[in-house]
Amino acid sequence: MGKPKAKRLKAAHHESSDATSDVAASAIADSYNEQIRPLLDAVDRLRHLKVTQEGIQLPTIVVVGDQSSGKSSVLESLAGISLPRGQGICTRVPLVMRLKDDPSAAAGSQPMLQLEYGRGRVVATSERKVADAIDEATAEIAGSGKGISDAPITLVVRKRGVPDLTLVDLPGITRVPVKGQPDNIYDQVSKIIMEYIAPKESIILNVLSATVDFPTCESIRMSQKVDRNGERTLAVVTKSDKAPEGLLDKVTMDDVNIGLGYVCVRNRVGDETYDQARAEEERLFRDHPLLSKIDKSMVGIPVLAQRLMQIQGAIIAKCLPDIVKQINDRPAPSSSRCHRI
Ligand code: GDP
Ligand code: MG
Repeated sequence: MGKPKAKRLKAAHHESSDATSDVAASAIADSYNEQIRPLLDAVDRLRHLKVTQEGIQLPTIVVVGDQSSGKSSVLESLAGISLPRGQGICTRVPLVMRLKDDPSAAAGSQPMLQLEYGRGRVVATSERKVADAIDEATAEIAGSGKGISDAPITLVVRKRGVPDLTLVDLPGITRVPVKGQPDNIYDQVSKIIMEYIAPKESIILNVLSATVDFPTCESIRMSQKVDRNGERTLAVVTKSDKAPEGLLDKVTMDDVNIGLGYVCVRNRVGDETYDQARAEEERLFRDHPLLSKIDKSMVGIPVLAQRLMQIQGAIIAKCLPDIVKQINDRPAPSSSRCHRI
C-alpha cells in the first residue's frame, strides 16, 4: 500500500532530488483532510466577518512565545516560505496566517500570497515582497513607531503541499521594552495575548526554545493562567540543534503541564533553503546521539503539521455546532450573516 503512494508523491515532486523532502511532503499530504477543509473555510469566513467582536469565539490555534523563541521561524517552517524574522516586523500586530494547500499548482511553482487588513484592504504580494508588505500594513494599523495594536493582518498563503491550517501569530513577550517601545509594552502585549488565549475555543501553541528553562518562560506563565492543566496547550520546542543535552528529559518530565504534548523541531538556520532545512532536521533527529532517543512521534515539522491539523479538525468539529447556534440565536441583522457561511 505504502509504496505506490510514495511513488506517486515522488513523481509529483520529481524536481526535488532529495528523498527527505519527499518524506516531509508526503507526511503533510497524507494528513490532508478533505472533510475538514470546508469547515475551516467556514470558520475563516466568520473570522473575516469579525464575529469575535460580537462575542462569538472561533476555534483558533494561537502561537505564543517569548521574544526570539522562534515563533516566526516555526510559522515559516510550516508555511514553507521565508517570512520576516527578527524584531520590528510582523510582531507588532496579530498576524492571522491562513495556509491553503493548492494541489492544482505546478510542483515547485511560486506560492500565491495575499494580505488582508483594515477595512477590506486586499493586497497581492510575493515571497520576496511579503516582509515589506507586512511592514506597510503594520504601519497603517499600528503607526510607524514601535507601538502595537490588536487589529489583525491576515496573510493567505496558497501553495502546493502546505498543511491546511489557520494560525494566529502574536507579538512576542518582552519584560524590558526595547528602544522606542512604550513603557507599558509588557502590559499591552499581555492584554492582546490574553484576549486571544483566554477563550476555551483557542488552542495554545506555546513556542519554547530548547536553550531555556521552560518554567521560566513568560509564555508558560501566561498560558497557565488560562489553561492550568494544559488541556489545550501544545508545545513546540525550537533550537533543538543548539541545546540537545537534557532535551529528552525536559520533554518527558513535563514540568510545565503541557497536556497536548511536545514536538521538537529544528528550523531553518541562516541561508538554508526550506528543503535543506527539512533534510537537516531529519538527519539531526535520526543521527544525533541524544536527539535520536526522542520518540519519532515527537520530532520534526511534518509531525507538528500533522498534529496541528488533527487538533484543528477536532476543535472545529467540537465548536462549530455551538457557533451556528449562537449566530442563529442573534436578532435579524446578525443572523442574516449566516447566509454567507
Ligand atoms: P521570534 O521572535 O519568536 O519570532 O523568533 P524568530 O523566529 O525571529 O527566531 C529568533 C532567532 O532564533 C533567529 O535568529 C532564528 O534564526 C533563530 N532560530 C529559530 N529557530 C531555530 C532553530 O530551530 N535552530 C537554530 N539554530 N536557530 C533557530
Ligand atoms: Mg517574530
